[in-house]
Amino acid sequence: MLQVEELSLAEINHEIERRRTFAIISHPDAGKTTLTEKFLLYGGAIALAGSVKGKKTARHAVSDWMEIEKQRGISVTSSVMQFNYEGFCINILDTPGHQDFSEDTYRTLMAADSAVMVIDASKGVEAQTRKLFKVCLLRDIPIFTFINKMDREARDPFDLMEEIENELGIRTYPINWPIGCGKEFKGVYDRHKREIIKFEAGELANGQRAVAKEEIELGDPRLHDMLGERLSAQLSDDVELLDGASYDFDMEEVRHGKLSPVFFGSALTNFGVEPFLENFLQMTPPPLPRKSSVGEIDPFNKDFSAFVFKIQANMNKAHRDRIAFMRICSGRFDKNMEVLHVQGGKTMRLSQPQQIMAQDREIIDEAYAGDIIGVFDPGIFSIGDTISVPNKKFEFEGIPTFAPEHFARVRQKDTLKRKQFVKGATQIAQEGAIQIFQEPGKGMEEVIVGVVGTLQFDVLEYRLKNEYNVDIIMDRLSYQYIRWIENEDIDPKKLSITSDTKVVQDFRGNFLLLFTDNWNINWAIEKNEGLRLAEFSRT
Ligand code: GDP
Repeated sequence: MLQVEELSLAEINHEIERRRTFAIISHPDAGKTTLTEKFLLYGGAIALAGSVKGKKTARHAVSDWMEIEKQRGISVTSSVMQFNYEGFCINILDTPGHQDFSEDTYRTLMAADSAVMVIDASKGVEAQTRKLFKVCLLRDIPIFTFINKMDREARDPFDLMEEIENELGIRTYPINWPIGCGKEFKGVYDRHKREIIKFEAGELANGQRAVAKEEIELGDPRLHDMLGERLSAQLSDDVELLDGASYDFDMEEVRHGKLSPVFFGSALTNFGVEPFLENFLQMTPPPLPRKSSVGEIDPFNKDFSAFVFKIQANMNKAHRDRIAFMRICSGRFDKNMEVLHVQGGKTMRLSQPQQIMAQDREIIDEAYAGDIIGVFDPGIFSIGDTISVPNKKFEFEGIPTFAPEHFARVRQKDTLKRKQFVKGATQIAQEGAIQIFQEPGKGMEEVIVGVVGTLQFDVLEYRLKNEYNVDIIMDRLSYQYIRWIENEDIDPKKLSITSDTKVVQDFRGNFLLLFTDNWNINWAIEKNEGLRLAEFSRT
């Protein structure tokens, strides 16, 4: 192992330069897992596709980390996967599906430099895509679209483009264009190269191998035979329409998330995965600078810095420790180095830094800006915390609090357990798994809990019982929306709101409104001039 001093600045810069860190977002079943698996396949990180989901068959490194995990029952899902491809070092951040959907899913996007949005070609934009997309917009990161399942019956590609533009408010630029779909899917037309990449259904049915490419130019006479009368006529019409009507390709717009490059393919059969990867890796940026209390932090700055974006609690009550996931924002991390936990004001070594390579978790010696590492947390880190080198004290911009969508009134069964209940609920809220709200003037013996995904209610109940020995009574409430009141000069008690709307406060004392539906939100906005309601809170 090289020591820090022995690595030249150029070598460190080279490592950072080749990092690409992105999140994959989609509605469940659109094909996120399949596409991720194919990325790993192309990256050589897995030998045969089909092993990502089958946890039992997946290879596992017998590392210290795994031992600890086994002993203590900490479940670290494949939150991040790293692999090399064509000189790039790629970090894929997974955003969990609907059962596990939680605030973590949103926070994961805070650690990415770009997002890949997978859309099912027969369904178009779906609910979860919409939610995750909103968070990407907050960050102005590039968003790439992969329209999947072209080997099945699909919607008209022009309709799909229009839906993405109208529903998500982002312009689209198709990099390639599908020729037919379902049984008639013939391949895609590459708009830059002006040639066709042919889809061969039979050979690739199980999609376990990389696809062989056959490239045919648009004017080639073989094209007519290959596509048939109707599809070749449609292709030339489509190409003409696209060239005339679509937006110009502007890399600056892509970089700021205003224009999404769109690709068509079929992850299951591997088709379109390689062209996607190649173009995507060229267009997606190396680690981006991050805002902080001392201005933007340049990823190539030689001083190590990172921020905590996710904390995973241990479900085993015998061991209170947790894992803090941090995104490295600048420089190089070395496992022996001393770092400063800014919010805690302490200098320390990070314990058991680990990274996940495909299915293997490894204790790591070093990592670079762009990488994600997980470290043991004895309960000192909070979401949004900054880690820096000892003599450089600053704070990265905070991670927003996202609006929960499910609410319940929660109280302890045994009133004598009030203290434990308050302590447990507060600690779990600090980890960011749930949000706690109170009705103004009421005490903490009864709180309103808000969560992004309903699974968190079960986690709360389980943890309060197992870690704090408190049984709770939970009544689900019919509220669906919560909005922070941004105006500081408004008295929430004097607002004109419907009887279905409730005023609450978060633990920082901010006032919020709970709504059952959009109609009530509109009522509040219309009846209270100047009222500003926000879906995210940054304070
Ligand atoms: P996720 O929930 O977004 O991770 O979706 P998965 O990757 O698990 O895929 C959901 C289902 O769609 C699985 O049965 C996949 O085999 C299937 N699937 C994924 N990609 C394709 C594709 O390109 N074509 C077809 N026909 N099926 C696909």
